[in-house]
Amino acid sequence: MRRCRNCGVPVYVSRGLIWHENGVVVQRRDPDHRMLFNESENLDHLFAGIEEIIGLPLEHIVIESKRRETREYVEKLLPYPARRVARYVGLRAMIGYLGTTARAYGFGEIRLLEKRVRFREDDYVTMTVKNPHCLSFYCGENLGAWEAIDGRESRVEYEEVPPGSRNYRVTNRIGPHPVELSDRLAPPRYSYKPAMLDLERCPTCGIPRRVASCRWDLDSGIITDPETGRRMAIYGPSGLEAVLMDLETELGETIPEAVVESQRRYTRRTFRREELEGGREAVREMLAVRGLGFLSDWENGEKRLRLVLQNACLPLIMVGFFRGAYEIMTGREESGAEWEFRPDGDLVVEVTGR
Ligand SMILES: [Zn+2]
Repeated sequence: MRRCRNCGVPVYVSRGLIWHENGVVVQRRDPDHRMLFNESENLDHLFAGIEEIIGLPLEHIVIESKRRETREYVEKLLPYPARRVARYVGLRAMIGYLGTTARAYGFGEIRLLEKRVRFREDDYVTMTVKNPHCLSFYCGENLGAWEAIDGRESRVEYEEVPPGSRNYRVTNRIGPHPVELSDRLAPPRYSYKPAMLDLERCPTCGIPRRVASCRWDLDSGIITDPETGRRMAIYGPSGLEAVLMDLETELGETIPEAVVESQRRYTRRTFRREELEGGREAVREMLAVRGLGFLSDWENGEKRLRLVLQNACLPLIMVGFFRGAYEIMTGREESGAEWEFRPDGDLVVEVTGR
């Protein structure tokens, strides 16, 4: 895979994505498709935290939600005649595409292990994925892409081989879905305002300097931020938004509060005080390179933190993040938050000490 000769970021990333000056990252060929460059372990910790808070397993719902969303997306991308052709000749091409995206976007290393596709009931395809950024997302996406191409309802199973290795065998088989989710509203469309961040960028490929300073290991599909030591990945917020909506529909009204709380706990465990105390400009850059929006106001004091994040997404997760950030900065054990996500895309948050 080719890299920028100046900064080393894969050309697949700089050609595929645009980091705008208003804190929004989008796909170049589909500017309505928003993306994030975010801590990859955030997803696993978020779901594990919600499971712990509500005491119920989530994985089957997360996988099914991602399957449905990915199938819809691929079906929109590839019209039916193209999918019919792909059914016969395209499985390897699809896996090749998934593997390339995975390595460039930090999803781990994906390989085809074996397959039997004879258009019978015992057809299957087995892939291996090593160090996935989020196993349930991978399972759902892999299944949704397979279904869009194959056309038949299928289910997924996985096994860690050997146990503890973070190397998984993931098999799709023909058969009914273990859960059927209720219909839900479409995930929110994001509203954007212009802003001028003036991000420092690589003069060759245009990737922001903070992103380009990360290490892309293209063999293993792992992106590491050397400043924080944390693993990063590129994924869309709307898929996560849809998963959170499905969890709320299936499991009830306690979910939004559990999302905020889980993200608060993750932030407290993960972020360091130095990362948050650089003032508005530093926090603004941190959020913008992640594609999380444009921090227009930031009043940070001992008693309260008040902020406005323009072009926001994932409001529950952001409120949890800001509560955790406030607690880290003030050394408090607890906080409360009042917040509003406005139709123009502004997320207004006020965190106070308890
Ligand atoms: Zn570059």
